[in-house]
Amino acid sequence: TPLSTQQIRSDFLEFFRGKAHTIVPSAPLVPANDPTLLFTNSGMVQFKNVFLGSEKPGYVRAADVQRCLRAGGKHNDLDQVGYTARHHTFFEMLGNWSFGDYFKVEAIEWAWELLTRVWKLDPERLLVTVYQTDDEAFDIWNTRIGVPADRIVRIGDNKGAPFASDNFWQMADTGPCGPCTEIFYDHGPHIPGGPPGSPDEDGDRFIEIWNLVFMQFDRQPDGNLLPLPAPCVDTGMGLERIAAILQGVHGNYEIDLFRYLIAQAAALTGTEDLGNKSLRVIADHIRACSFLVIDGVLPSNEGRGYVLRRIIRRALRHGWMLGQKQPFFHRMLAPLIEVMGDAYPELAAKREFVERALKAEEERFAETLDSGMRIFDEVAARAAGTIPGEDAFRLYDTYGFPVDLTADIARERGLEVDMAGFQAAMERQRETARASGKFGGGTTLPAELAAQLAPTVFLGYEATEADDVEVLA
Ligand code: ATP
Ligand code: MG
Ligand code: MG
Ligand code: MG
Repeated sequence: TPLSTQQIRSDFLEFFRGKAHTIVPSAPLVPANDPTLLFTNSGMVQFKNVFLGSEKPGYVRAADVQRCLRAGGKHNDLDQVGYTARHHTFFEMLGNWSFGDYFKVEAIEWAWELLTRVWKLDPERLLVTVYQTDDEAFDIWNTRIGVPADRIVRIGDNKGAPFASDNFWQMADTGPCGPCTEIFYDHGPHIPGGPPGSPDEDGDRFIEIWNLVFMQFDRQPDGNLLPLPAPCVDTGMGLERIAAILQGVHGNYEIDLFRYLIAQAAALTGTEDLGNKSLRVIADHIRACSFLVIDGVLPSNEGRGYVLRRIIRRALRHGWMLGQKQPFFHRMLAPLIEVMGDAYPELAAKREFVERALKAEEERFAETLDSGMRIFDEVAARAAGTIPGEDAFRLYDTYGFPVDLTADIARERGLEVDMAGFQAAMERQRETARASGKFGGGTTLPAELAAQLAPTVFLGYEATEADDVEVLA
């Protein structure tokens, strides 16, 4: 029988425990003490200060299973959900770290050992990439491990190409950085897509499973790279992607955990076709939304709360498309606890609270979803390729359609949204509000729910994430 995701989590941790790693718990999705970051989007987030040298943990090797969210913020995979076999908004990242201890040789050897000897993946289906100038990593793969040179791809940095491979990692414009090596799995020639580095690498044939980052430089304000006194290793492997491989399926949405969630979403929406894309989106979104609420976020009109609202409303729109116009989404929590409750006891512990928060948002959006969809249809019928910004704004302002939701619906019909026009309409309304002395709407949380919310001190965004917040509205 194939390995369950639960077994894969524990195999991973046991393997690295056996290599003298300390097992640490997952940090919450809302990063502690880091106002510059919207969400925890990788395993290294909780170790940022360790890499920067301002924090010393009591160990030099660690491993964990980190819950991650890539929706809003610098890493945003929300628009990939339902379109690729390999992207979620919420996913679990298996990671191992060296804080100035082991480096490239051990990191690569252990990754290979776990994949090919413990889990017995066929080495012929694995492909690796290294940073273009990282001969050291190339030689380890080629000479020590025995990966043939024609299956080691040299990759550069692709700044500005969000979905292109990029094998140079950096925390920020200055500070720790270094080359990566990534491991890909070939799901077979019957699936469209090219190898990493090729023009059609964004397909689902060669799927990236594990990224090993070698932090070996400290970038100076003038751009110079100084060697770090104690190089570090930071790795991340997508649990759902490795589970797909180990369970002999192609897509993440076909693994045990997702099959169950999808069947439950089908039952709750009265859908027969289990391959329906909307079911995948709902199954993805219930994980993101539940964990956001558990980690202290509630739907609101700004910042993190608005990301949550956007994801819930997207899920509800998919339920609506399947013909479910009654609140159903909060009822996905029970099945979620079935499949993830063992790994995350907080799901069951906060069940009622999460259900109430989701249901309140369902009820709120139910008031306008139906009429908003009618308006959308009218607008779409007369749109010549593009939904005018004014209409997107009306959907936003009157019907509570976040603009990314409108864009998502438009995309399904081969249309676009005039985003600049939307922003302009928004700006005009702000001006009018300012002129008449009214200030922003604030949150629309029921006071009772807001009071229960664990206090998350929100200090505002800085640096790059500030740009992200602007586009949220
Ligand atoms: P991709 O190129 O496929 O979008 P990535 O390069 O953005 O992945 P990394 O930032 O390197 O991903 O994260 C480490 C690992 O986490 C990836 O190798 C992959 O296994 C997993 N991963 C990344 N993004 C997602 C996602 N949206 N959903 C599921 N797993 C993911
Ligand atoms: Mg990505
Ligand atoms: Mg990648
Ligand atoms: Mg990567």
